Amino acid sequence: MLKNPTPQIIARLASLIITALSVGSILLYALFQQAANPIVLVLIAAVLIFTGTYFTTAYYLERYIYRKIKVIYKTIHNQKVPKKDKNKSIDLSTNIIEEVEKEVNEWADNQQKEIEKYKLWAEYRRRFVGDISHELKTPIFNIQGYLHTLLDGAMHNPDTNEAFLRKAVKNVDRLQTIVEDLESISRLESGEMLLELRPFDIKQLAEEVFEEFEIKAARRNISLLFKEGAAQNFQVIADPENIRQVLTNLVHNSIKYGIDNGLTKVGFYDMDRNVLIEVADNGIGIKKEHLPHVFDRFYRVDKSRSRAIGGSGLGLSIVKHIVEAHAQTINVRSTQNLGSTFGFTLRKA
Ligand code: ADP
Repeated sequence: MLKNPTPQIIARLASLIITALSVGSILLYALFQQAANPIVLVLIAAVLIFTGTYFTTAYYLERYIYRKIKVIYKTIHNQKVPKKDKNKSIDLSTNIIEEVEKEVNEWADNQQKEIEKYKLWAEYRRRFVGDISHELKTPIFNIQGYLHTLLDGAMHNPDTNEAFLRKAVKNVDRLQTIVEDLESISRLESGEMLLELRPFDIKQLAEEVFEEFEIKAARRNISLLFKEGAAQNFQVIADPENIRQVLTNLVHNSIKYGIDNGLTKVGFYDMDRNVLIEVADNGIGIKKEHLPHVFDRFYRVDKSRSRAIGGSGLGLSIVKHIVEAHAQTINVRSTQNLGSTFGFTLRKA
């Protein structure tokens, strides 16, 4: 109790000491003066001195502690003094200093966590900006090269002028893809994207995406099909435009990384409350060591191949963001030279 005294105990102790000293002096004085009834005198003095000292000490202690605590609370609670202290009274029978110490420690812990969070964000942003400038550099450099060559005389050479212009345009297209994908990523990461959830037919959406890619697939003679048994139409609850983006990116990848005369198959599987949607191809596949990274932004298994076919390296990262914004999951299975299967879930309507 004395190791960790409350303000009330301190006030009582101080009063006891002062009372004992005063009463001792009064007793000595009474004996010396040969008072008629020294015991009664001493008792009355003891009660008066103890009460007076106790209330005075308690009052000043309370005011002193309150003033100190107010400053601490102002700092840790954004200028606000907690309600219990608003009436300027402190319960002196509690160990108020210990309570404040606990709150200050909690506050310091939270501050530390916030700082760690900001550090991570700063690091993430630094890397992001670095990655972006790195990605933009190549097409800008290429466009610059082709345009300067044309201006330096190549534009009058009918053998090369059109080819150079086409190459410059291809790089402009790549720039546009990167910027559009970056916009999507930044919208997704800033949490600005509000999902407009409504029920829709996922198979019908997949058919629309297949139609979009008919010409691209036909160029490589890749067949876009539904898995056997996927005749059933599944109603899901999700944001249709975002899920269109997911299917678009996955089907596009299945063609980009597919093989000539290959196959892309979309399947639906009933999973109790969810539907599992799979986009499978029999293309080049992905080596095991790359699999954990394919959803990272700007990650490419084969950088030159991805860039050559106009990839931004952000497609799967966008897909993952959208699926996770729906509180669902996405995964990939793949074997090199055999093909890949990307599967994600959506809630059934
Ligand atoms: P990119 O714009 O490069 O296609 P993505 O984020 O869509 O970017 O994909 C990241 C990388 O994952 C690709 O560069 C590619 O190496 C690999 N990848 C994605 N889909 C497939 C697939 N269906 N088959 C094989 N590799 C794939």
